[in-house]
Amino acid sequence: MSYVNTQLLIANQWQDAADGRTIAVFNPATGKEIGRVAHAGIADLDRALAAAQKGFEAWRDTSAFERAKTMRRAAALLRERAGEIATLLTQEQGKPLVEAKGEVLAAGDIIDWFADEGMRVYGRVVPSRSFATTQTVLKSPVGPVAAFTPWNFPINQVVRKAGAALATGCSILVKAAEETPAAPAALIKAFVDAGVPPGTVGLVYGSPAEISNYLIPHPIIRKITFTGSTVVGKQLAALAGAHMKRVTMELGGHAPVIVAEDADLALAVKVSAATKFRNAGQVCISPTRFLVHESVRTEFAAALAKHAKAMIVGDGLAEGTQMGPLANPRRLTAMAEFTRDAVAHGATVAAGGERIGEVGNFFAPTVLTDVPLDSKVFNDEPFGPVAAVRGFNTLEEAITEANRLPYGLAGYAFTRSLKNAHLLAQRVDVGMLWVNQPALPSAEVPFGGLKDSGYGTEGGPEALEAYLNTRAIVVSNV
Ligand code: NAD
Repeated sequence: MSYVNTQLLIANQWQDAADGRTIAVFNPATGKEIGRVAHAGIADLDRALAAAQKGFEAWRDTSAFERAKTMRRAAALLRERAGEIATLLTQEQGKPLVEAKGEVLAAGDIIDWFADEGMRVYGRVVPSRSFATTQTVLKSPVGPVAAFTPWNFPINQVVRKAGAALATGCSILVKAAEETPAAPAALIKAFVDAGVPPGTVGLVYGSPAEISNYLIPHPIIRKITFTGSTVVGKQLAALAGAHMKRVTMELGGHAPVIVAEDADLALAVKVSAATKFRNAGQVCISPTRFLVHESVRTEFAAALAKHAKAMIVGDGLAEGTQMGPLANPRRLTAMAEFTRDAVAHGATVAAGGERIGEVGNFFAPTVLTDVPLDSKVFNDEPFGPVAAVRGFNTLEEAITEANRLPYGLAGYAFTRSLKNAHLLAQRVDVGMLWVNQPALPSAEVPFGGLKDSGYGTEGGPEALEAYLNTRAIVVSNV
């Protein structure tokens, strides 16, 4: 399918920006411009905000049962269109087609789960101190939501927010990433085609800072949700705080992988390799700091490097590609710098370490070993296909290192001992810990971080709470 230009969605109408401005979209595998996306100005944002208010009033008053039916229709449309949407996603973001299709299909599951969960948003009746009084607790939608999403999972990052917002009766105005605009537009279109009232969903693109500075303080917007870097998240959370807006922040991570002395090493290598290079490592829960017991460190690093060297890197649309290009040239520069800095500090490049070719943003799957703690890659989130390995002697040492950084998003561990697993579960400060298995961030379990990785969760019943007001209603029958 050929790539399409992306318009704004305001009140269920796809439209160009009022002043006609657009931004170029590039294919990261070729470096070529493949289309344009509309660049909203303040006049467009004002219309989108007014529509979000109207959409909220209509959707809030639609029963949870009807809302679920509409959401399920949207999920079915996504599944029908998964092939076409995946092709758009790969063209603008780079990931292999099979990963792109998986992302679209997973979005269908997320919508279904939230649709059903929305029918179980219960209040409660509280025993009162007077026979004549009834005390109830009501859960009401918080109001129009402003959502800001990044380019690494152009659909998944939007659908987690839209699923929870729509299930609870909120409207949602999304500013998705300008680098990957067509895939989120296809997701939003599924909701429109499924029959949501005008303004229930909206989609804008433009200058990220201009849009967030306008939407967050705006009185129509009642809730902010952001996925992206910790630096930007802190700025947006501060702005939201100044205007007393509710916030969910899904920020960066630097996931430790603890491979204990008693780990199933073959499993640890297989899972680590598959998880590390998925989406070229541009994943907030990507395993990044490999802490491996000294007794198995050399064997583990060699096996991981062997896997990295064997990977087929290429255009995500090509048959057999296992890892695509990085999403933008900024990541290419960042990977080269992480590698250079680690080597300067004494690390060894066991695989990769350099750009592949001159065309497109291809960087070789990279494994760095004997990485000193003071190298950049062990401190800043790499957000790319770089695995950094170092050894440890005691589990306490590994736990201390895992908790050293301000991040606390995901963690992984490999051990055959229940005692070790229990200790790690209690002591590693992360929002999500996967033991002896790859990350499985399904809709029904909480998804979120601690410390500088943000707050709030985008999975499980708690994800709906983030879009609900809790109100006490007390009625006396006098
Ligand atoms: P960036 O910090 O410039 O942007 C990250 C995202 O935030 C982008 O989608 C961008 O459009 C948006 N953004 C930036 N400034 C904004 C503002 N003032 N208001 C609203 N949105 C704004 O970084 P980048 O170069 O695009 O990505 C690199 C870093 O971002 C990575 O190192 C990683 O830490 C982080 N990131 C995290 C995730 C995630 O899933 N948590 C996803 C993408 C990027």
